[in-house]
Amino acid sequence: MKIGILGGGQLGRMLVQAAIPLDIDISVMDKSVDFPTPDIWPYFQEGDFTNYDHVMEFGRTVDVLTIEIESVNVEALYDLEREGKVIFPQPRLLDIIADKGFQKNFYKEHDLPTSSFILCDGFEIKDKIVSGEVTFPFVQKVRKGGYDGRGVQVVFSEADLEKLLSGPSVVEKMVDIQKEIAVIVCRGMDGQMSHFPVVEMSFHPTANLVEFLFSPSTLPSEKQKEAIEISRGIAEKMGIYGLLAVELFEDADGNILINEVAPRPHNSGHHTIEACITSQYEQLIRVLSGFPQGDTDLIQPTVMINLLGEDGFAGIPIFEGLGEVLGMKGVYPHIYGKTTTKPFRKMGHVTVMNQQLDEAINLAQKVKEILKVKA
Ligand code: ADP
Repeated sequence: MKIGILGGGQLGRMLVQAAIPLDIDISVMDKSVDFPTPDIWPYFQEGDFTNYDHVMEFGRTVDVLTIEIESVNVEALYDLEREGKVIFPQPRLLDIIADKGFQKNFYKEHDLPTSSFILCDGFEIKDKIVSGEVTFPFVQKVRKGGYDGRGVQVVFSEADLEKLLSGPSVVEKMVDIQKEIAVIVCRGMDGQMSHFPVVEMSFHPTANLVEFLFSPSTLPSEKQKEAIEISRGIAEKMGIYGLLAVELFEDADGNILINEVAPRPHNSGHHTIEACITSQYEQLIRVLSGFPQGDTDLIQPTVMINLLGEDGFAGIPIFEGLGEVLGMKGVYPHIYGKTTTKPFRKMGHVTVMNQQLDEAINLAQKVKEILKVKA
């Protein structure tokens, strides 16, 4: 059986890496042989995953098709599905998930907890403030195409109104976030589900950036159970095939609210490669191949840091300090093989494991100081 992956970035690369021990037949399509996946994998076809004809042609050469990025040509996926191809996730779900407005409607219609919201165009927001339908502070999110915080902004007061974005938007109540967490669920075509332990994000005290992710979460166990139930509930109600990464908030009243989901391997699951018995990547390979799912238990407390291109450097990457961090116990760097670095580009990640979470956090902070991506 042959698996096809649309997208040859780092997620595709890690999927292929997970498939190698099982000798799974995989081919990958993306625009350039310089990308992270073809860099390590010869079964690669050059093509544009946003192009209908390219996706159709590639899809017809495989038995099961999956994605590592949402912005693929969904029309082609519908047609391939009609031809009998199995698609993980199903195109109807990609249509819902790629649009933050449809996502929010899905949660509302299925009684799944999420912050209150309205859908409108960016230019209508001012009128809705006047009419009292929208009140400060609120969060504006463009419905399509935003990523890594781009296309999302918090509007605190009148003074911020000039930065309103135009276009179809979700306008959400601002949540007083206590914790941001994520749960990755996997669902096979047989309806069997598994989930990975809750991951918690730690934010930089001044810059509003995720500094590192860690697991186990420090949330009380009943709250973690609630987050897991909610996440499994979404996967069940969507009837999804494959992975569903669910990002959630805990608010000041202890409510667990869904922020958004991604139907593919996720940044919040990189650590599972070393830290869980089965990684998110292997789990997806297993369900794509029709194999039973593996055990998702956490082996040791773990911290994951993204390795971003250092500000002020662009060009061929140099991983300064790599040797030094490799000399530290429980430190596992992953370099994605991108040919050029630029400020804040995701160039790799590092997983840090220790018997004590506090110690893993200390070590991760040291790694952050030592390991720099320059050019
Ligand atoms: P993206 O899809 O670009 O990652 P998100 O919807 O995850 O965008 O939002 C990015 C960040 O903005 C979140 O991680 C969170 O910190 C903040 N955020 C999003 N929605 C809200 C909200 N309703 N209230 C407060 N903060 C929010």
